[in-house]
Amino acid sequence: MGSLEIFSTLPSFMVSITALALLFFSCWYASRDSRISNCIWFLFLGFILEFLAVWISYKTMEIYDNSSTASISFWVFIELLLLLGSMVCLAVSASQLVAKNMYDLPVILALSVLGFISIIYFVFVSPDGNVINAIRQIFPMAGLLYMSISFWSQMGQRYRGGYTFAALTTAVSTLILITRMLGFEGFGVDSWYLAPLLYILLSIAILMIKNDRTYKKLDEIENEIENANKRLEKIIKTSPFPIIISRLSDDRLLLANNNAVKLFGLTPGELERYRLRDFFADADNRQLLSERLEAAGEVQDFEILVKTPSGDTPFWLLASANIIDYNLDVALYSAFQDITMRKNRENMLKNQATRDPLTSLYNRRYFEEEVFKRILDAKSLGEPYSVLMLDVDHFKRVNDTFGHKTGDKVLIELAATAERALRECDIVARYGGEEFVIFLGNTNSDEGLKVAERLRETIGEVVVYADDGQEVRFTISVGLSSSDISENIDMLIKTADEALYRAKNGGRNRVEVFTPNDLQNFNSEAKRKNEEANHHPIFDKEASEEISLLDGVEANHIQSEPSKAVKVTSLPGVDEEDLS
Ligand code: GH3
Ligand code: MG
Ligand code: MG
Repeated sequence: MGSLEIFSTLPSFMVSITALALLFFSCWYASRDSRISNCIWFLFLGFILEFLAVWISYKTMEIYDNSSTASISFWVFIELLLLLGSMVCLAVSASQLVAKNMYDLPVILALSVLGFISIIYFVFVSPDGNVINAIRQIFPMAGLLYMSISFWSQMGQRYRGGYTFAALTTAVSTLILITRMLGFEGFGVDSWYLAPLLYILLSIAILMIKNDRTYKKLDEIENEIENANKRLEKIIKTSPFPIIISRLSDDRLLLANNNAVKLFGLTPGELERYRLRDFFADADNRQLLSERLEAAGEVQDFEILVKTPSGDTPFWLLASANIIDYNLDVALYSAFQDITMRKNRENMLKNQATRDPLTSLYNRRYFEEEVFKRILDAKSLGEPYSVLMLDVDHFKRVNDTFGHKTGDKVLIELAATAERALRECDIVARYGGEEFVIFLGNTNSDEGLKVAERLRETIGEVVVYADDGQEVRFTISVGLSSSDISENIDMLIKTADEALYRAKNGGRNRVEVFTPNDLQNFNSEAKRKNEEANHHPIFDKEASEEISLLDGVEANHIQSEPSKAVKVTSLPGVDEEDLS
């Protein structure tokens, strides 16, 4: 491509060198794309070798002009070798640049061997100036032609701006070389500036190719993301579990499968209207989930209480969540499992252990455990507290007159009324039968008396209807003990019961308070009872054995040892006579 005139004047040389430098920079920039890096450098090497060849040719001419006898075969050989190298480099570059795995490398190799042999032959064996001149023109032309054909073959590509430009440039250059070879130099095409012009145009083409490849890559990445998302959506849609994808930045829903749509009651077309946080029934629960996600990037088997947009009763879900990339967003992938049934069962079992099935109040065991803790708290805070024992007056009559079922209704109504009348922090429990016990926190004896009186009056106004429509009214008696008396729950209950006993004896439908003055009496009475029990003439403790009627084995065993006195404990509702 290059002509000898490049070296004849300084400006033409400088322009050519600058154009080569430009080619170098565009090659360097484009070679940062590692896939085409080698091809680009082959291309640059091809033009450098050609440039050197022309320079050597120029120098050879100078030597020849100065002394026509000097041997120039060696320099001609070097020049042609460089031209051959240039052709091979351009061919390799073109074949690799446009498509990997092109099977033309053997062809290029065969051509270079052939070229090498002909150089040796025509320079050293049978020197022929005309053939050498022809070779000088054919090698660069072949290289450019090869490039041109390769670039044209890329016309089917989507991003082909750079290739088209390169194809045009190399095709026009090839044409110029052909016209030059055919001897149309008179048209002025054999000008020194053609080589630098080609370098500049190719620099532009290379930059364009690099640009096209970047866009192509972006397109491929976008396609890949789209495909990955489609695959993910497919998996999510067919999952038997409810799954939701929400954007991390604003919490909006991006995707929900059918199971999630049903579970949360969503409108499928308007997913972005919802935010994940709106489904949490408990803000603390949500905060905890966010913290765990932030710390670990994922959460497994996290229990959340969920409410739907329609505001139905909250329900429990087991959630697993992961932070993922979705549609060029950072998103949260959450899969759920409905554990309402399991939670209900757990609650039921818990209630069974702590609640009375008839009135749904706490049972005695829970009451005692809980009050034990409350008393410790109250002690540390220096707060007073009171305990009330309640008993329905003449309840047996209610049962006898209206039936057991109505009796049950009375107990249920009484429990509900007591709970309504008291504060949430008070503990109401069924102590057994028609007896109830109440713990009033931060309430001294005087305040407790007021509460008890109010409760007695409120319950006195309650009306329950028997099956036949008859009105059933009832009253209660109440005994009160307080932190003035004891810090021990057993003692509090005993003393409240003692006060209740007094209320019964005092005519019922009334409240009695156990005061510190009653303590001495109570203690000596308790001591007396204890001694009486221990030294009973018949049931002496040493010899007596308490057995249950249910325990048949024990009973038989005792029969075989008649010497031992037996004290029989009667079951409630079984008369003493029946036992004999
Ligand atoms: P007082 O005023 O002295 O307390 O008389 P009362 O009849 O209420 O006392 P008593 O202890 O003699 O009777 C309590 C009755 O409560 C006996 C028992 O059958 C009945 N009862 C215990 N538990 C239940 C229950 O769960 N349902 C019903 N309907 N009755 C019960
Ligand atoms: Mg009773
Ligand atoms: Mg009673």
